[in-house]
Amino acid sequence: MRLNGEEYLGLLIKQANPNATQIEIGAVAMEQVQNLGAAVGMFTEHIQKSNLVGQADTDLALSMTDFAAKHGFSIYLEALQPFALGYGYAYFDKIPAASVMKLIVSATEQRSRYPFVGFPCGTQSLAEGMAATLEDIRLSAPVTKVEKLDNGLEVQADGQPTETYDKVIFATTLDLVRSMMTLAPEVDELFSTLFTLRYFTTVCKQEGITITNTLDFYAAGTYEANQNSIALIAWTANPTEVATTVYQFASPDASLSDLSDRMMAELQSFWGANVTEIILQREWTNYYSQVSVDDFAAGFFDQVDALQGEDGIYYVGSQFSFETLSATIF
Ligand SMILES: Cc1cc2nc3c(=O)[nH]c(=O)nc-3n(C[C@H](O)[C@H](O)[C@H](O)COP(=O)(O)OP(=O)(O)OC[C@H]3O[C@@H](n4cnc5c(N)ncnc54)[C@H](O)[C@@H]3O)c2cc1C
Repeated sequence: MRLNGEEYLGLLIKQANPNATQIEIGAVAMEQVQNLGAAVGMFTEHIQKSNLVGQADTDLALSMTDFAAKHGFSIYLEALQPFALGYGYAYFDKIPAASVMKLIVSATEQRSRYPFVGFPCGTQSLAEGMAATLEDIRLSAPVTKVEKLDNGLEVQADGQPTETYDKVIFATTLDLVRSMMTLAPEVDELFSTLFTLRYFTTVCKQEGITITNTLDFYAAGTYEANQNSIALIAWTANPTEVATTVYQFASPDASLSDLSDRMMAELQSFWGANVTEIILQREWTNYYSQVSVDDFAAGFFDQVDALQGEDGIYYVGSQFSFETLSATIF
């Protein structure tokens, strides 16, 4: 079924209240949106922060599902689930409200702090632009070990001489930090609670879905919890181009051919579309690093924040600020 967000919200309200008239459906929709707005207002200060520190003892540490139920916008949230799944933000009952509320606010409000921007030459141009302002960049030299010595932090990297620094900033996820450094047992245990997802992008040619807008969004109206591949998005940068991009989650054991089969089946069943050619499939490992709702409420982000700067070591990146470029950069 192909519906825009407003139509899908209406459908969900109708399902919950089968006898509701159009006017009643409109009133419920408005109430849901107002309740979301009230929740945003209540937690504005936290939601606008770049990082997720200092939120463990607020309602934002609830799962997004529980948060929406408490603040009266569960149906609106349900309407957003396919969108969030398609973009790789997982299931609302599995993620803390703190991170999802950032996404909702970015997606629903034009705010001066996080305006929507795109990169006409691709996101790689951002990294290249930043790299051009730095003096000493070494590419294809993965760091293999960082060791704390009496005179500083010794860094070993593939194909590079071993060097010692006063400070080290890890811009990788904490699971990778664990593989590069011997950490105190309690820090190692803390870092091990963070986990990441498997996420795939497939560029394909398909027949059946006509792309009408520059960025046309399609999401499944139904989805199976925690299965291999769900909530597809298809768009093209140029409506005249035939290539379509599909995003998929994957369970840990799913093979590439499992994912292709499932993607084709879902495109067919949801939109009657046939994939005629798969041009490229790309796996993104370490995608959307996150902690469980319980670990969030137990203060994961506050505990990691307390370690910042200890022994000259810092940790940065999207894992502390929710998986969007703007939150990561600012
Ligand atoms: C398919 C996809 C689509 C996305 N779409 C959007 C979008 O539309 N909008 C948006 O805002 N965000 C989007 N994101 C999310 C966004 O790209 C990330 O949030 C952001 O890039 C994370 O930045 P980061 O610096 O924390 O980590 P990364 O960009 O992952 O950088 C970590 C770097 O560390 C390097 N590294 C790893 N190990 C080592 C080592 N041992 N030594 C040296 N270097 C190492 C890696 O190679 C990598 O370059 C998308 C992500 C994906 C995967």
